[in-house]
Amino acid sequence: MDMKGKVETAQLLSDAKNTILYTAVRPELVMERGDGMYLWDMEGNRYLDFIGGWAVTCLGHSPAVIRDALTAQSSLLVNASPSFLNKPMIELAKLLTDVSCFDRVFFASSGAEANEGAIKLARKHGSINLGGAHEIITTVNGFHGRTLAMMSATGKKQWEKLYEPKLPGFRHVPLNDVEAVLAAINPNTCAIMLELVQGEGGVHAVDADYLAALRQICDKHGIMLIFDEIQTGIGRTGKLFAYEHYGIQADVMTLGKGIGGGFPLSALLVKEAFNLFEAGDQGGTYSGQPLAMAVGLAVMKEVIDKQLSLNADIQGQYILERLQNVADQYRLTNIRGKGLLLAFDMEDRKAPEIAAGCLKEGLLINAPNPSTIRLMPPLIVTKEDTDLMMDRLCRVLDHEFSLR
Ligand SMILES: *Cc1c(COP(=O)(O)O)cnc(C)c1O
Repeated sequence: MDMKGKVETAQLLSDAKNTILYTAVRPELVMERGDGMYLWDMEGNRYLDFIGGWAVTCLGHSPAVIRDALTAQSSLLVNASPSFLNKPMIELAKLLTDVSCFDRVFFASSGAEANEGAIKLARKHGSINLGGAHEIITTVNGFHGRTLAMMSATGKKQWEKLYEPKLPGFRHVPLNDVEAVLAAINPNTCAIMLELVQGEGGVHAVDADYLAALRQICDKHGIMLIFDEIQTGIGRTGKLFAYEHYGIQADVMTLGKGIGGGFPLSALLVKEAFNLFEAGDQGGTYSGQPLAMAVGLAVMKEVIDKQLSLNADIQGQYILERLQNVADQYRLTNIRGKGLLLAFDMEDRKAPEIAAGCLKEGLLINAPNPSTIRLMPPLIVTKEDTDLMMDRLCRVLDHEFSLR
């Protein structure tokens, strides 16, 4: 047992209790170190990580390519100013436009910020091309971030009464219901924004027919189509971008999470026809920040060179298979997902207890709601990692069932 670590942890937890603004219930431990698929707390306990920093650490923890990129870039230039271009910024924009169907990129630090840029662009489009249209249609159960505008965009029931008044101009429609979209469209509509797989909403994918219909509707009315690929992008679903599964292109796409591999970075990607901002319309102190740009470039190159989208596809299928094999035994239902964005339901609404039990067994998994367990490991995950994950998960499920 690590006595020094135990004492230090107790002191830090007590300091945290008195100093950290209360916003979340967190387990009584302090994370210290990460390497590949594992995290260690200050008491030396090791955790197999199937949360991946919330679908963020796509290359695993503290990968050499991120360390090297940070070391090299920080000895060259940490920060110029958003009014100057820098080399990694241009190189990352070039790479992103080369590997996607988009033509131009604006960089930011968080997913919500990239989405704010998308909404501003949609309203600019509305004011220039649609006679002042400003409404954006989003989906019930979707998730777009935590700024006030993105909380208004997000169709999450629990947030309905928070921080009123919300930013007006958002309409929420149920996912995969074309009629609902048609009913919501009016002369004020300037955009439709959605995730191709709802992540925080519990891993629900859009239907191909529905997406094709949205594209048609948008084309017919001149409405901007926005894909929020903050969680689904960068190989997560088994393709570099989830839209590749559907063969349908948006006018605008946002990226975050995986693109920085753990470093704060997001991007707004735009087709040339929507290159509509004028100087001063959009900006930010850290837009194109050299350290973030160097990391993003290193992460993207690694994901592409190592074919990690393909690994996500292969490993995701293996995880699904392993889950199917125990589905009857543990009454797991709706086993679903694409690539390494996976989930299943537990009808007894014990998902948070299962996730807490796994933490004690040295396994990190996520319960986005009381009935759902979500898995989103790094894209470097192997079959051996999955076998170990299943051992630990089944041990917790065995224990849970023995209590009935
Ligand atoms: C996480 C997430 C966001 C918000 O990203 P932040 O970096 O937390 O602002 C937006 N959209 C989707 C789909 C996400 O999963």
